[in-house]
Amino acid sequence: MKKKWLLVLMTGIMLTAAACGNNGGGGNTGGNSGGDNGASGGNAGSGSGTPQVGVAIYKFDDTFMTGVRNAMSASAEGKAKLDIVDSQNAQPTQNEKIDLFISKKYDSMIINPVDRTAAGVIIDKAKGADIPVVFLNREPIAEDMNKWDKVFYVGAKAEESGTISGQLIVDYWKANPAADKNGDGKLQYVMLTGEPGHQDAELRTKFSVQAIQDAGIEVEALAEDTAMWDRVKGQEKMQTFLASHGDKIEAVLANNDDMALGAIEALKAAGYFAGDKHMPVVGVDATAPAIQALQDGTLLGTVLNDAKNQGAASVAIAAALSKGETPTKENTGFDITDGKYVWIAYKKITKDNVADAQ
Ligand code: BGC
Ligand code: CA
Repeated sequence: MKKKWLLVLMTGIMLTAAACGNNGGGGNTGGNSGGDNGASGGNAGSGSGTPQVGVAIYKFDDTFMTGVRNAMSASAEGKAKLDIVDSQNAQPTQNEKIDLFISKKYDSMIINPVDRTAAGVIIDKAKGADIPVVFLNREPIAEDMNKWDKVFYVGAKAEESGTISGQLIVDYWKANPAADKNGDGKLQYVMLTGEPGHQDAELRTKFSVQAIQDAGIEVEALAEDTAMWDRVKGQEKMQTFLASHGDKIEAVLANNDDMALGAIEALKAAGYFAGDKHMPVVGVDATAPAIQALQDGTLLGTVLNDAKNQGAASVAIAAALSKGETPTKENTGFDITDGKYVWIAYKKITKDNVADAQ
């Protein structure tokens, strides 16, 4: 820990302690996140050499990333001091936050890029300052990942989540002959996609349909549109789909739970999930409200996108890099593939195994 930093931290801690008798988060410049990280912040002034990690999230207002953020704070206790900031869904804002991390000489950074094609520029800056960087959830292209050996990525294999969500529909179709509402032997579906360009949006869309076809089911896409990972947009897009296709729709696939839950709202307003009017809807993430919907019988199934382990792995890798170590299974607890990737497995979740997601 640099001397100047120590001084700032000590002063912050003393001031905070004087003000409220709480030494947590005194040196935390993260504004919004100061409270979250009080516990880990408390260690920083002790001279224990706790690494200081700058964390930039693409936007705080994202259900899944909020789960990851909370997991990072929890797992950082005693391991690292996190300064978590909101990039407000703007790459220029994120770049400014990164410049600030660099000027503060943090020991490493965890970046959830707004635009994953911006990773190259971020890596150049990080390399110039010799501050290792762990990317999270939005995967940089391989060419960028290979620019420097102190660049890592923590995420999940998007194609796997696509395949599992398709299989959820296959299971339903096979168990319910009435699922083929018009009896033409084909599955008429609508698709709510995430943000264009996001690997999870592109690959979940592709592999979910592929899994249905691989099971020998013919498909017909009635509509496909982006709802940008967002619940309200999911509801609006589903209203539009219902207005043009109505009861012709036999299944709803959504690239994440928030959009699936929005679609369920629109379906409820159109009389679904009452009497014998049903619709299979699948999402990805297994967020708390999605688990509730599974239990209510509105959401057919989802895929656990393991926020807890993605958060924990990012912090573990950043902590090792901060200490000048090469991240390994031994010093992080996570398997590292190709020297720079940590892949966290997805899991199929239905109302029968909700406990696995809780
Ligand atoms: C999640 C989405 C989230 C997105 C943010 C995806 O992996 O499934 O819910 O909005 O990441 O980048
Ligand atoms: Ca049909």
